[in-house]
Amino acid sequence: MEIDHKCAYGPCQCKVPVMGQYCSDHCSQADKLRAEGTQCSCGHDACVATQSI
Ligand SMILES: [Zn+2]
Ligand SMILES: [Zn+2]
Repeated sequence: MEIDHKCAYGPCQCKVPVMGQYCSDHCSQADKLRAEGTQCSCGHDACVATQSI
């Protein structure tokens, strides 16, 4: 499995497989809704690390 590009949702830092566009449903929804923000809350490690809870 190749994982070589970033999630299509801007704020998201996750890497996604070649076949996919988003790392998760969360990002798919957020991008469709054009949710503005500097952080992604998909819950994956790459994004959790950037969040201050
Ligand atoms: Zn994310
Ligand atoms: Zn994502």
